[in-house]
Amino acid sequence: MTQKFTTELDVVVVGAGFAGMYLIHKLRGLGFRVRAYDAASGVGGTWYWNRYPGARCDVRSLEYSFSFDPELEQTWEWSEKFSTQPEILRYANHIADRYDLRRDIQFSTRVESQTWDEERARWTVTTDAGDVIDAQHVVLAVGTLSAPKLPEIPGIDRFKGEWYQTQKFPKEGVDFAGKRVAVIGTGSSAIQSIPEIAKTCGQLTVFQRTPNFSFPAGNRPLGRREVDDTKADYAGLRQEARESFFGQTGPEALQSALEVSPEEREATYREGWEAGQLIGILGAYNDLITNKEANETAAEFVRERIREIVKDPVTAEALCPYNHPVGTKRPCLDTGYYNTFNMPHVRLIDLRKTDIEEITETSIRTSEEDLEFDIIIYATGFDAMTGSIVKIDIRGREGRSLADEWKDGPATYLGLMVAGFPNLFTVTGPQSPSVLSNMMVSIEQHVDWISDCVDHLRQQGLRAIEATPQAQNDWVAHTNEVADETLYPLANSWYMGANVPGKPRVFLPYIGGVGVYREKCDEIAREGYKGFALSN
Ligand code: FAD
Ligand code: NAP
Repeated sequence: MTQKFTTELDVVVVGAGFAGMYLIHKLRGLGFRVRAYDAASGVGGTWYWNRYPGARCDVRSLEYSFSFDPELEQTWEWSEKFSTQPEILRYANHIADRYDLRRDIQFSTRVESQTWDEERARWTVTTDAGDVIDAQHVVLAVGTLSAPKLPEIPGIDRFKGEWYQTQKFPKEGVDFAGKRVAVIGTGSSAIQSIPEIAKTCGQLTVFQRTPNFSFPAGNRPLGRREVDDTKADYAGLRQEARESFFGQTGPEALQSALEVSPEEREATYREGWEAGQLIGILGAYNDLITNKEANETAAEFVRERIREIVKDPVTAEALCPYNHPVGTKRPCLDTGYYNTFNMPHVRLIDLRKTDIEEITETSIRTSEEDLEFDIIIYATGFDAMTGSIVKIDIRGREGRSLADEWKDGPATYLGLMVAGFPNLFTVTGPQSPSVLSNMMVSIEQHVDWISDCVDHLRQQGLRAIEATPQAQNDWVAHTNEVADETLYPLANSWYMGANVPGKPRVFLPYIGGVGVYREKCDEIAREGYKGFALSN
């Protein structure tokens, strides 16, 4: 049966967050017919959806921003060290305006399927708006933290009060004034929103399954001098970030935490803590993510701060994490999180001591009590890195389903392509540095690499590119080896897929370092796309 196409394109981009937006700009500049589709009604991805109180970035805004246009970075002004969600969303809209991107974005449209046509060497992409698109390439810019996850709690649909997910917060905001509010979860989203909600609500109850290590953000307005100094050598700063381990500037640690005296270590950690510099603690020594004993020195330093801040010793102890090395779950940055638990109307429920048994029409019922609420906030995270990809019904060679191929864990070559799925690219995909980095740096690197690759095919008169199974196997083995040299696999984290029941437990991102990874990708392209099969 011949398909009736509604649109013909060179490249379909799925997603119009920062990755999708830069892809349109870049590919259009190279003369490709490109169109992005997003389920959202506007640009910004993460910053369109996550509108909960207190939402802001935790990579310095001067670095969590695009570097591809020197005039853009010189003219845009960030107001704070870590900008708020509304400001980052304004930035995303500014990008869309500045490069006239919206004419090539179809909003409020979800991509549902894509099927590879062997004979024509093209993808057929369908959407929930009835589009049937014929395209040579598809780039999944669907985001790594874009498939929200509700907890598996019985009765969740029964609650008659207001309930919200941090990842899909209403545009008009929520009035917490005087209300009895429950927050379920204590990850980054909860840790940012709890102090804000506590400011106006009547009662706040936080349900904590696992305590997290959180560090003071030290957020502040940006001074003119700091901004001018950064802008005077923006190119230098960007280059340093690209070559760094985590895609951010900062000093490189050369010493083991165990080589210095406890007093010196303590002074170093304290300086980082007081300055609101995460890197001053977790980046202070070169073995904090590889050596348990070294790691414990930083972990205990944070626990000491928790005990110091939180007045009630039982609550303080409940907030102290012991079950994972510090840094092996995504570190959280906060503004007054631990202090919030000193407020008389704020209570912590430790779910290691009592279970949530069910949610009723009016309450959350634990094994010990029935607690009534006006509002429940689910800050329960995402099906990270693979969730939004496998939600699309992707059929590659011989009708193979990507979701099936990944049922034991994702397998990619460089986190960019998958064997058996030609001309399908992922931005910040699994087995690339992705969520372990300043994502702006990784997004730009992937978009540049993908655009160069697609352009190379056109110049060589080639129709398709595909990862070879051998190169993919070698890359997967390499990413696992590198992860196994670290403490990351010890945590039940979303990095490990551990937050989603039934999800295979594998370390999802690549922990080899942003700079090293970039060099590998560039070298592979220079060597004629080594490990990829190119065909006409
Ligand atoms: P996203 O911004 O996630 O955009 C993906 C888009 O794809 C979404 O709009 C979604 O609607 C769309 N989409 C997905 N599937 C489909 C489909 N099938 N059809 C149509 N549309 C689809 N990273 C940092 O480096 N620093 C930070 O400080 C930081 N803070 C964060 C704070 C929060 C609250 C969250 C959730 C993430 C944060 N991140 C941070 C990670 C953040 O996701 C990235 O920095 C970046 O914004 C990702 O951009 P993206 O374009 O790749 O994906
Ligand atoms: P998250 O880190 O996965 O946290 C989810 C929380 O919900 C965890 O505390 C989890 O407990 C808890 N939870 C899940 N299911 C539960 C259940 N059934 N019962 C009780 N508790 C349950 O999600 P997130 O906070 O949205 O953050 C995800 C990522 O987005 C971050 O790690 C970060 O990369 C990014 N982010 C960044 C910022 C920022 O500061 N810039 C802000 C928000 C998000 P367990 O730990 O036990 O699983």
